[in-house]
Amino acid sequence: MELLDGVGKLSGVGPKRAETLSRLGIVTLFDLLTYYPRAYIDQTTATPFSKLSAGTEATVWGVVVSVQERRSGRGGKLSILTAYLSDGTGYLAMTWFNQPFLKKKLDEGRRIFATGRVDYAYGGHGGLAMTQMSAFEILEENVDAPRGGMLPVYAAKANLNQNFFRKLMTEAFAKKPELPEVIPESVRNRYSLIGRDRAVTAMHFPKSPEELSAARTRLAFEELYLIQCGLLLLKKKTREKEQGVRHLMSGALVKKVESSLPFRLTKGQEKAWREIAADMEKPTPMRRLVQGDVGSGKTAVALLALVKTVENGYQGALMAPTEILARQHFETFSRLLKASEVRIGLLSGKLTAKQHKEMIASIAAHEIDIVVGTHALIQDDVRYDELGLVVTDEQHRFGIAQRAELKKRGAKTPDVLVMTATPIPRTMTLTVYGDLDVSRIEELPPGRRPVRTFVRTEERRGLIYAFVRKEIEAGRQAYVVCPLIEESEEMELPSAEAIYQELSGGVFRGIRCGLVHGKLKPKEKDEVMRSFYEGETKLLVATTVIEVGVDVPNATVIVVEHAERFGLAQLHQLRGRIGRGRFQSYCILIGGGKEGAANERLRAMERTASGFDLAEEDLRLRGPGQFFGSMQHGLGDLKVANVLRDTDILLRARRAAMETMEETRDMRYVLDVLRLNYSDRFGKILDA
Ligand code: ADP
Ligand code: MG
Repeated sequence: MELLDGVGKLSGVGPKRAETLSRLGIVTLFDLLTYYPRAYIDQTTATPFSKLSAGTEATVWGVVVSVQERRSGRGGKLSILTAYLSDGTGYLAMTWFNQPFLKKKLDEGRRIFATGRVDYAYGGHGGLAMTQMSAFEILEENVDAPRGGMLPVYAAKANLNQNFFRKLMTEAFAKKPELPEVIPESVRNRYSLIGRDRAVTAMHFPKSPEELSAARTRLAFEELYLIQCGLLLLKKKTREKEQGVRHLMSGALVKKVESSLPFRLTKGQEKAWREIAADMEKPTPMRRLVQGDVGSGKTAVALLALVKTVENGYQGALMAPTEILARQHFETFSRLLKASEVRIGLLSGKLTAKQHKEMIASIAAHEIDIVVGTHALIQDDVRYDELGLVVTDEQHRFGIAQRAELKKRGAKTPDVLVMTATPIPRTMTLTVYGDLDVSRIEELPPGRRPVRTFVRTEERRGLIYAFVRKEIEAGRQAYVVCPLIEESEEMELPSAEAIYQELSGGVFRGIRCGLVHGKLKPKEKDEVMRSFYEGETKLLVATTVIEVGVDVPNATVIVVEHAERFGLAQLHQLRGRIGRGRFQSYCILIGGGKEGAANERLRAMERTASGFDLAEEDLRLRGPGQFFGSMQHGLGDLKVANVLRDTDILLRARRAAMETMEETRDMRYVLDVLRLNYSDRFGKILDA
């Protein structure tokens, strides 16, 4: 068979099973071969009966001495079949429920090789029995113990059980062609990696734990290495092929704006700013990520970079993820730049057609120096006179493809600064943003009081809201956040609307409350938000629309209803909405209680204020698959590598990828592999 043949060609796969397989993502032979087991049963060593102990898993090997069948249950419906085995060191009972057909195979003298759980035999006076066999074979008399391997266990589904998978894999491996190699030979040798064909085979049929580990290492390395190569190639291409903007040393304008800031930069902001300025002064395009926890002051750093490009005669663009944030940035910048001659514009979706046209014309004519907006900023009808720098704030949707898009904007490729508050653990940064240089702002501006976080159960809601009311009466503002409820799961959860009604008509009667959720028209939403910024509205009931960036220093309380329904990253973002001013702030998470993982998340929020610590925790609790998934960066999924556990492999893969960039032959080899296997991810850029 060929790798791209459909699995329907294998025996035992009819239309119905093919359908189930396709739901597991298995369509071709190749898909099947790379559908790796989720666990293994180690049958490499059989335990003598005398060494067995109750409550453990074991593999055993013995001879049938006698067999007994009993019937029980109503009307004798339940069949209990027990074989007594001996292995020369002792006896063991082995019991099957409701498998009466096994009886004819279980003659005295036959041998059994089985793996399962050992417990005290029911009513057996201390004798041991194996009842839940995860695998067993009944063999002829006088056969030697089979050479046990590691038995694969697949994530099975519906009508596909373990036996089906094991048989199917055996057939598939017998019929498959040799899998082509994708890692250059020199790299394989240097990093002692086994071949691809052997590794994939060993993933399903490892002969020993050592062989399995070599296979896993090889395949995890492969995934991480190829991604790293792709990212480094992108970076290299940007560096070599593209004519960037060479900015001069910062002059009077930058200094003036910096000294007119209402605060002094923190050490972290200072350092990030120095790194950015140095990049901007190089002839190659900047590709830099600034990572800083919520409230660490990334905006000021972005402002300086934008002013620097303006000082050099270029235009700058600041891209925000939402209209609301774009406007907030526009207002902040307008305020901070009032004393300078820098002209700033807002390209908003709310402009009338005429205003929009005028704004586009002013941008093209270079009558605007800094444009703030959403994604529209790099869309087709926007032409710049000369774009020197693009800053994107909270950029999760600003992926590799968009970065490439920028090249088409003009003769020179603008510098790119990506700002994110999503605290990604260090090792993850390599995987996700391997083509970017990274600056980190590690501290918060001085004078902030850490937010106090409490997890409370439903019963305390009354007290909590009484406390919120007191804060509001003292002049502060507050958020109440409700989970988004899908129509399909109506459940007993109240909607944001219902909570708004309850609160505004109850404990907050007489206080101005606002409600904002995803179904509002943009205009209505903006009006509610504006009223909250300006302090007219005191209490804002919201779904997660307030998650990113919003800056209202007077808000000191955030209450999260059904907090167990939020992820850690989200909760941390939400908490970042408060504690932005000089008042003590409080984050109150209502929920918790029974469920394990959710409870752990909430406790982690109580324990630590650091986004990076929480990210590590999140990664640990959810696993990298979901962590990655939530980030929409389109890196695809990793089948074998686990960025949390395989840090070591990741670092070696990164080093190998860097070496590959220096070896023309290896680089060509990898380029071909990427074109063939990762064209969806890197193809367009590599061919461009
Ligand atoms: P984020 O990194 O979350 O985007 P912002 O840039 O919105 O953070 O800054 C958060 C708040 O901190 C703003 O109100 C800003 O004016 C203030 N701020 C920023 N830098 C400093 C500083 N060095 N000293 C004091 N306050 C600062
Ligand atoms: Mg921000």
